[in-house]
Amino acid sequence: MNPEIDTSKPHSARVYDYWLGGKNNYEVDAETGRRFEQMWPGVRELVAANRAFMHRATRHLAREAGIRQFLDIGTGIPTEPNLHQVAQAEAPDCRVVYADNDPIVLQYAQALLRSTPEGRTAYLHADVTAPEAILSSMEVRETLDLDRPVALSLVALLHFVADDETAYEIVARLMEPLPSGSYLVLSHGTADTAEPEKSERAADFYRSNVSDGQARSHETVLHFFDGLELIEPGLVPAPRWRPDGEGPQIPDHRALIHAGVARKP
Ligand code: SAH
Repeated sequence: MNPEIDTSKPHSARVYDYWLGGKNNYEVDAETGRRFEQMWPGVRELVAANRAFMHRATRHLAREAGIRQFLDIGTGIPTEPNLHQVAQAEAPDCRVVYADNDPIVLQYAQALLRSTPEGRTAYLHADVTAPEAILSSMEVRETLDLDRPVALSLVALLHFVADDETAYEIVARLMEPLPSGSYLVLSHGTADTAEPEKSERAADFYRSNVSDGQARSHETVLHFFDGLELIEPGLVPAPRWRPDGEGPQIPDHRALIHAGVARKP
């Protein structure tokens, strides 16, 4: 049976969808999204810049690094182009497993399963705090070959895991079984800003109304890449990761998402 969608309170995937201009959210999400926006104008640009980073990182890995397998956790409500569409536009044989813990994403997951005939996609309802369950799932086992490189994509996800050690442990466990030549694609909300009080108020509002979580400093986010080799330009505000003209340009002090891609040696 499908898990139930709770429309009485806002959910992170639906508020994100509202900011992206999507239609798969409820009034309670839109209202919360609007109130947050009053506290932090520019949040829409921020999520668009984050999404554009996901596109560029995926395109880079499929085009330049020869990656053909992706595991995307915290996928979000389908928004075109989705990760598999970006990857399969470069290489139609790409295989993608998506996972999210919000029942609304499961409800719309059909859109994530429209793969090219040469490739394959799967969707898994799962929580990133149980990494072993994801790795041992039928979806992962039947779709991905863990003897070949995989790009693990955790885009705008780990700020929902409030405890630092738990969050680091999750990444380490997910990367552990992946072979050399695999990649970690990660973006993460930060409070590194010239307006710390304002951003803290916005973060408090989000925590009380939507979801627990933790914005992290550049240095703290950098630790997620321990043991991996960050590729150029390193961990940077999302709009500055290999810009190609797509997505909004945002001054660094307002671009509150750090983004990076690293290779497992
Ligand atoms: N990765 C997408 C969506 C980011 S929004 C993008 O960058 O565009 C964050 C997503 O993470 C939401 O869909 C939310 O449901 C999901 N999420 C939050 N906590 C999670 C958890 N513990 N396990 C799995 N998914 C989670």
